[in-house]
Amino acid sequence: MKKITVLGSTGSIGVSALDVIGNNPGRFQVVALAAGKNIRLLKKQIEKFHPRIVAVSEYQDADELRKYLSGKNKTKIVSENGGLNEVAAFADADIVISAISGAAGLIPTLTAIDAGKDIALANKETMVMAGSIVTAEAKKRNIRILPVDSEHSAIFQCLQGQHYNSINKIVLTASGGPFLNYKAKELQTVTLCQALKHPKWKMGKKITIDSASMMNKGLEVIEAKWLFNLDINKIEVLIHPQSIVHSMVEFIDGSVLAQMGIPDMRNPIAYALTYPERIHNYLPYLNLAGVKKLEFCKPDLKKFPFLEISYEAGICGGTMPVVLNAANEIAVGAFLKEKIKFVDLPRIVSRVLHAHNSIKEPSLNDILQVDEWARVQTENLLERITSW
Ligand code: NDP
Repeated sequence: MKKITVLGSTGSIGVSALDVIGNNPGRFQVVALAAGKNIRLLKKQIEKFHPRIVAVSEYQDADELRKYLSGKNKTKIVSENGGLNEVAAFADADIVISAISGAAGLIPTLTAIDAGKDIALANKETMVMAGSIVTAEAKKRNIRILPVDSEHSAIFQCLQGQHYNSINKIVLTASGGPFLNYKAKELQTVTLCQALKHPKWKMGKKITIDSASMMNKGLEVIEAKWLFNLDINKIEVLIHPQSIVHSMVEFIDGSVLAQMGIPDMRNPIAYALTYPERIHNYLPYLNLAGVKKLEFCKPDLKKFPFLEISYEAGICGGTMPVVLNAANEIAVGAFLKEKIKFVDLPRIVSRVLHAHNSIKEPSLNDILQVDEWARVQTENLLERITSW
């Protein structure tokens, strides 16, 4: 029986993870959950999975939950950052699913690593912001970081039994998002509603916007660098609109291994939880004859400048990816409130990146300070944006 903590249980990944867990009751047990503010869903999750401890962001919500559960459930309810970290380090867990969105996922993930827990990593921001620290801590504690992101899970699967030295390059596939076939000029006027309609994946709002702008792929390139200890120049991105090939590895002999499957996050989540075993997922099998064709093409870097911007930040290293992530989080927040246009996103992030002097080999404290700096810079820029 594998004991599992889910950080971000009320989100898209959290709900999919609990579905995998719920379908395999003899194999998995939920011991702890953490969420933000979706108390309605959290109540249902507590009643179904009976975790020993649950964290929520606000203490008022914790009070409400305690009252709701009193007399019928022994779950300990904690709140705020202290509560979140208590859940992340909960002693009984064998593995922690890190699925909080954004930079808020970094500290609880590091806390779980410090507590010696294996990590099923969905929160790519953890690696983007602090890849060197996270990988070093994981090595020190001899714990595994198992990728949940479908592309990284695909690479991880293709690398099983292979020698690191035999990798020529890896290829991350990208669906291209809702605007793949739009002309650059048409992007000027796209709406929030259009950007939130991803053709293949059902995800949280932030990552859906990042997929439309291709920032998600940029963040994934940096995540892959750390997860697989690769030079960024060995990481390529290819558009693959069918989202069937989740990613590929090219080896030095010219062989290419690709991992395929239906686009459903429950597959990579289950693999991260059961690795090196595989389990039945109660999902449809891939019907390649039904898919008919698999297409690939190079991304249009002019139309989607975030990819190039991300490569530059990743190559520069240090705290540049921290700024990339933080500025993007704030800018996407403004886009979600319809305060800026879609095409403003890369312009804003570029400006903040250009104002930053990267710190090489940053400490965790440096990273948190730079994250805060970039957020303030971006907010200031957003205030001035109407004059652009
Ligand atoms: P969602 O927005 O759907 O969910 C985010 C989760 O994090 C929710 O449970 C939310 O709680 C919780 N949360 C947010 N802020 C805090 C906080 N400060 N403290 C505690 N909990 C918090 O995001 P996704 O599930 O889509 O994505 C989660 C992560 O996984 C992201 O890093 C994303 O990049 C990555 N990922 C997602 C994929 C997907 O298919 N969705 C695919 C690959 C990676 P609440 O809702 O209760 O407020």
